[in-house]
Amino acid sequence: MSFLDKLIVSALPVVPKSIVGQFSKRYIAGVGLQDAVRVIKELNKKKMMATLDLLGEDIQRESEADAMKARCVEMFREIQKGGLGSNVSVKLSQLGLRVSTDLCYRNVKAIVEQAQAMKNFVRIDMEDSTATDETIAIYHRLRDEGYENVGIVLQAYLRRSDADVRALIRLRANFRICKGIYIESPDIAFTDRDDIRRNFVLLMRSILENGCYVGIATHDEYLVEKSYELIERNKLTREQYEFQMLLGVRENLRDRIVADGHRLRVYVPYGEQWYAYSIRRLKENPQIAGYIVKSLFSRNGN
Ligand SMILES: Cc1cc2nc3c(=O)[nH]c(=O)nc-3n(C[C@H](O)[C@H](O)[C@H](O)COP(=O)(O)OP(=O)(O)OC[C@H]3O[C@@H](n4cnc5c(N)ncnc54)[C@H](O)[C@@H]3O)c2cc1C
Repeated sequence: MSFLDKLIVSALPVVPKSIVGQFSKRYIAGVGLQDAVRVIKELNKKKMMATLDLLGEDIQRESEADAMKARCVEMFREIQKGGLGSNVSVKLSQLGLRVSTDLCYRNVKAIVEQAQAMKNFVRIDMEDSTATDETIAIYHRLRDEGYENVGIVLQAYLRRSDADVRALIRLRANFRICKGIYIESPDIAFTDRDDIRRNFVLLMRSILENGCYVGIATHDEYLVEKSYELIERNKLTREQYEFQMLLGVRENLRDRIVADGHRLRVYVPYGEQWYAYSIRRLKENPQIAGYIVKSLFSRNGN
């Protein structure tokens, strides 16, 4: 990121929420579940699948974690009612991980059971490195109890991910591989773009050569090309993997992947807690962040 980009990104917290909201519309389906349902219907029409995400993390109270669980369960009912091509992504800190492991396990298990009853699937997002061990342990526990309709995410920037992938291949895990979005120490994470890309390809290779399912979550054309090569080399059918992208990001690339005959799933976030998510997205896109900061100044100047 250039110095100017860094400057723009550092100015984001002083931008009024209403302005961030205007620019964030492309990344968020809306506040209510019905907003997300509408977006998913549009995506399905374009032959794209979805994964629904209720925004909100780092829940500190049991009652809030239980309420989040209830809303995730409701999401599956809505998906079934609307005949939508969508599964659900959850964050464990949203389901009480920071309160107690048992509470979190109870909640995620209830969601996975609901998904199972509706022949659907739950993806457990990966959060910052303070949650990695517990997230993997909870995933193991679910699989040990016989739940197959659940997948995990590993981050290519973490040095440990190669070992984690190898261990999880033995479980026949269903993976999502992404670069990783949190700020982590260089002791545990690659920080150089090429190292992260190299590790992303390495992880993908291990997973695909061992016949596990993978969601390839990236907007990086280099990695999309590398994935195409791996898919071809391993003679995979289109049911053995999928590409995944975030709502509102690089729609041209998204269309091209679908036109090339691959399956693609769009991550569709919605909910009242859209602000933190939007800031994370905008930090990845200094160009749009730049428009926001500019609009702030022109507003002040008028
Ligand atoms: C479906 C999905 C699920 C994810 N789940 C997780 C998770 O569970 N845990 C986790 O830590 N991270 C997750 N991520 C985020 C991920 O780790 C990366 O931070 C993010 O995808 C950016 O990396 P990239 O591979 O797209 O490459 P980048 O190099 O960041 O982006 C490639 C190109 O895409 C464009 N681009 C990227 N972001 C934006 C944007 N916001 N707006 C416009 N253009 C943009 C830019 O042109 C950029 O040059 C997820 C990402 C996706 C797509």
